[in-house]
Amino acid sequence: MSAAEALALGKSRSAPKAVPAGVPAAAPAPADTTTTTTDTKSTPTSSINIVILGGNFAGLGVLHTLARHTIPALQHLSSQTTSSSTQYQITLITPNTQFLFVPASPRALIQPDLLPGGEAKVFRPLSDAVKQYGDLVKLKQAYAYAVDRTNRRVHIRHVNSHWSGDGMLVPPEAASTVSYDVLVIATGTKARSALWSMPGPGSEALKGAEEATRREWESIRNKLRNLQSGAHEHHDVLIAGGGPVGVETAGEVASWLKAEGKTEGVKITLHSGADKLLKRNCGEGLGRKAEEYLRRQFGGLVEVVHGGVKIVSVSESGPEAGDGEGETTVQLSDGSTRTVALYIDATGGQGNADAFLPKTWLDGSNRVVTKDAFFRVRGSSESDPEAGGIYAAGDVVSGSDNTLIETNFQVPVVCSSIGADLASQILGPDSQKNGVKLPAPLKQKTFKNKLAGTLLIPIGPGGGVGQILGWGVPSFLVKVAKAKTFMVDMAEPAVTGQQWK
Ligand SMILES: Cc1cc2nc3c(=O)[nH]c(=O)nc-3n(C[C@H](O)[C@H](O)[C@H](O)COP(=O)(O)OP(=O)(O)OC[C@H]3O[C@@H](n4cnc5c(N)ncnc54)[C@H](O)[C@@H]3O)c2cc1C
Repeated sequence: MSAAEALALGKSRSAPKAVPAGVPAAAPAPADTTTTTTDTKSTPTSSINIVILGGNFAGLGVLHTLARHTIPALQHLSSQTTSSSTQYQITLITPNTQFLFVPASPRALIQPDLLPGGEAKVFRPLSDAVKQYGDLVKLKQAYAYAVDRTNRRVHIRHVNSHWSGDGMLVPPEAASTVSYDVLVIATGTKARSALWSMPGPGSEALKGAEEATRREWESIRNKLRNLQSGAHEHHDVLIAGGGPVGVETAGEVASWLKAEGKTEGVKITLHSGADKLLKRNCGEGLGRKAEEYLRRQFGGLVEVVHGGVKIVSVSESGPEAGDGEGETTVQLSDGSTRTVALYIDATGGQGNADAFLPKTWLDGSNRVVTKDAFFRVRGSSESDPEAGGIYAAGDVVSGSDNTLIETNFQVPVVCSSIGADLASQILGPDSQKNGVKLPAPLKQKTFKNKLAGTLLIPIGPGGGVGQILGWGVPSFLVKVAKAKTFMVDMAEPAVTGQQWK
């Protein structure tokens, strides 16, 4: 099994389990209300509003699975067991207009032309995900900045100007509220720079949150081109972060400079921030192999620095920060200062839920704490009624290993929790006794990351290091499975929903 195939596997198959009811009985749902525009629509009283926050891997996975499997199964169940019907509405709230295939970012950032289809393969329009579902799915280009758990409303701020359904121009920064019966938090991780993740709050002045990422990429490329052409006074590159992103990025920068014939007098320093590379991701061996691989491929061009030295502050100066001619001064925790032509922060990030959930709902890294293994959100305590009907998916889940692999295993479980909770609401308190056969999408699935211990790290296009299920794999396998294309072919099915068919 190739890693690409393995990554594409996402459906957990497991025995049904007894279901705790998480969704409160459907109440007359208040309409969306807009405080500064007329972005309002009334919803039928028997509707269930499902709101998804975050439109990338986890959010789209949940959207497609609900639209294709869970909601049709709920409608089938209702038709068999009750005389009334329920209308479902999914609202996807996200500040980006484009899906970003994050795993390919290190390649897309430095050498986009080496990707089949170029950078265009990495950004895909979100409209390709939602338009197929017609009125079932609404897309709101906005970010959540507060959740009113008592009244079950999400407060959102719009991004970019757009025309509302009522023909009114909604300016950026206009605020609205959206009511929910079910809320899915899939807002991912926020990195220190927009290089690796699209911003939520703060993106209102942009056309879409992805614009911030594109700008950062362009700025890095400008600086690198200046370094390569000799226009820059400094010749050093500093990369902070010894995890997979730092290692992959060092490999991309080094292989690009090598291909351009610009290695004389240039030094790429990779600060691991620890005592070895890949410390948080795998056992002893792989970090050592990565360091050896870097040395073998690039000799003195790449220097790996350990010892737990952290970046304290970064300042840009020069003609115009971002145009490639400026220089970056980095202050390190050992008291030293370095001025470099290019600085890349690959130090990871924090959960992206502190903007709209209380601290008591989050762990120390701002990820959302769940109360069970089925991704139901815990709230302030185990019995917090305000957390009813709220679920989390993807990197934002506390304890998640922050990989797409794990996200792909989470998505069917989150949707089965939603399906099971809504089914028990349809069937009522006697649902266990009355012998109704639940359709498969409404049976509780259990979570297991069947690919735990799988990690492939390209170090340039020619190969890299990796392990599958904890077993080391040779460089040529890393090349075939990931280093050649960075798996960009997986973007399309994630967007169109083919992955979740
Ligand atoms: C450089 C890099 C390389 C990686 N490579 C791999 C790999 O090879 N294999 C692997 O398995 N994993 C990899 N990962 C991890 C993988 O990318 C993540 O696990 C995946 O992106 C998680 O998806 P997500 O939907 O949870 O979060 P994200 O992809 O971060 O998406 C979060 C979404 O939430 C939106 N959002 C943010 N704030 C708000 C808000 N307030 N309101 C509404 N929406 C909001 C964002 O705009 C975005 O659409 C890599 C990560 C990085 C950074």
